[in-house]
Amino acid sequence: MGKPTGFMEYQRELPQDRDPLERVRDWQEFHLHMPEEGLRDQGSRCMDCGVPFCHTGTLISGMASGCPVNNLIPEWNDLVYRGLWREALERLLKTNNFPEFTGRVCPAPCEGSCVLGLNEKPVTIKNIECTIIDKAFDEGWMTPRPPEKRTGKKVAVVGSGPSGLACADQLNRAGHWVTVFERSDRIGGLLMYGIPNMKLDKQKVVQRRVDLMAAEGVRFVTGVEIGKDMPATQLRGEFDAIAMCCGATKGRDLNIEGRQLEGIHMAVRFLHLNTKSVLDSNLADDQYLSAKDKHVIVIGGGDTGTDCVGTSMRHGCKSLTQFEIMARPPDTRQPNNPWPEWPKVYLLDYGQQEAKARFGDDPRQYLINTKKFVGDAQGKVKELHTVQVEWVKGDNGRPFPKEIPGTDKVWPADLVLLAMGFLGPEDAILEQLAVERDERSNAKAQYGRFSTNIEGVFAAGDMRRGQSLVVWAINEGRGAARECDRYLMGQTQLP
Ligand SMILES: Cc1cc2nc3c(=O)[nH]c(=O)nc-3n(C[C@H](O)[C@H](O)[C@H](O)COP(=O)(O)OP(=O)(O)OC[C@H]3O[C@@H](n4cnc5c(N)ncnc54)[C@H](O)[C@@H]3O)c2cc1C
Ligand code: SF4
Repeated sequence: MGKPTGFMEYQRELPQDRDPLERVRDWQEFHLHMPEEGLRDQGSRCMDCGVPFCHTGTLISGMASGCPVNNLIPEWNDLVYRGLWREALERLLKTNNFPEFTGRVCPAPCEGSCVLGLNEKPVTIKNIECTIIDKAFDEGWMTPRPPEKRTGKKVAVVGSGPSGLACADQLNRAGHWVTVFERSDRIGGLLMYGIPNMKLDKQKVVQRRVDLMAAEGVRFVTGVEIGKDMPATQLRGEFDAIAMCCGATKGRDLNIEGRQLEGIHMAVRFLHLNTKSVLDSNLADDQYLSAKDKHVIVIGGGDTGTDCVGTSMRHGCKSLTQFEIMARPPDTRQPNNPWPEWPKVYLLDYGQQEAKARFGDDPRQYLINTKKFVGDAQGKVKELHTVQVEWVKGDNGRPFPKEIPGTDKVWPADLVLLAMGFLGPEDAILEQLAVERDERSNAKAQYGRFSTNIEGVFAAGDMRRGQSLVVWAINEGRGAARECDRYLMGQTQLP
């Protein structure tokens, strides 16, 4: 602990984000960096607690508490305070393959469980993590480090999201020949085609890492869907082991009256097409769903919904409303949500900040349910009919949203984006490999072991866990790599 009084001397500070009205005019990242001096002060706020909770990565009430990849946070906070950046980088890379991703997109459960957060604002852990790795790339410290020896074993990783990339990176370090198969035209999974560019830059950040891994010996094959373009069983013959990291890509639909109308789309399709068009042609190819001059309604209040809001704002939508069926969270922690649990409090995320700056208010409408879509004579959606709800306990004791009579409302809409979560992985690869599913239809593999009922076939990330977070996907990819290495070699040195 560099400075015992740091937490008393300095307040929590974050670098200012770019101005919302300026940043909606482009697709560049909205986060800015803090100067090194200020960041060292922030690092010195870490108290090096006797029992730090920030790196525990446990689940409490179904939510992460502490860092799921068990980052050695107090150690690198101290090293940053002392200006020992290279040593801080070494500590960071011990636990996290891709801090440049988590440092940008992680909701930072580490900060929710920071001990200082009990009576002060927590340490700015995520921002420090991001700066350590960005500085490392800027300084040229991140050079290819291929393994010294090859084992001669071949592993196929299917899916190139954060779990597939982490799995491939670890297996490559262990000396195996790794081929990553991806059905999209670009590598990265939801890092590439889910989370938009303004939150995570595709060329400068995602592709930079993919290029580094390729230089270290990982082989990437794009445009091949295993189970369709290539039978999954073929992989069994060609590789010594398979790691399935295909995500949970089946989106939850809203099958109510009028769903077939033109102008109603699944959120991930909207986001995928937009990022592809931005990268291919800066939107000049017109191969995306435009929100320009439209009344946009986003149904769903999570990260996906926020990204739809931010993307629609950049297109120049006429109005923007976001529906959330749950109640507005409280401004501060409630007694039933104590530290070190993930704090369930009201936040204005980047997309809502932008909508507020442009239209004057947070676009979210809470406790609202959509009853039907209504279209015009051409079959295009023109309005949504809603009703307010309250959460009450049903006969089985479980809460459900009960409609409040007399609260019906009609909303004009030309573009509706469905961002209501995900139902699980797609079927083909699982069926072809005869892999068992769990009760939520995910690939069945015990956490920590990651092996399926089929010998030599492993599963990790959203495909095993259900839709989650980038940091959990990295954790699972690392774990699956460890178990895969143990299977191939009879023992493993991988963490
Ligand atoms: C819009 C959106 C925004 C999000 N924002 C955040 C955020 O800000 N922070 C955060 O922590 N989490 C966020 N998440 C969640 C996070 O992105 C996921 O939890 C994470 O990406 C899961 O990683 P994964 O590797 O398991 O799967 P994915 O990232 O889904 O990658 C799976 C990959 O497998 C490929 N694939 C599937 N089947 C096959 C096949 N048969 N053959 C070949 N390839 C195949 C897919 O094309 C895909 O590229 C967001 C999710 C969405 C949808
Ligand atoms: S990966 Fe997420 S939880 Fe872990 S230290 Fe970074 S921001 Fe915190």
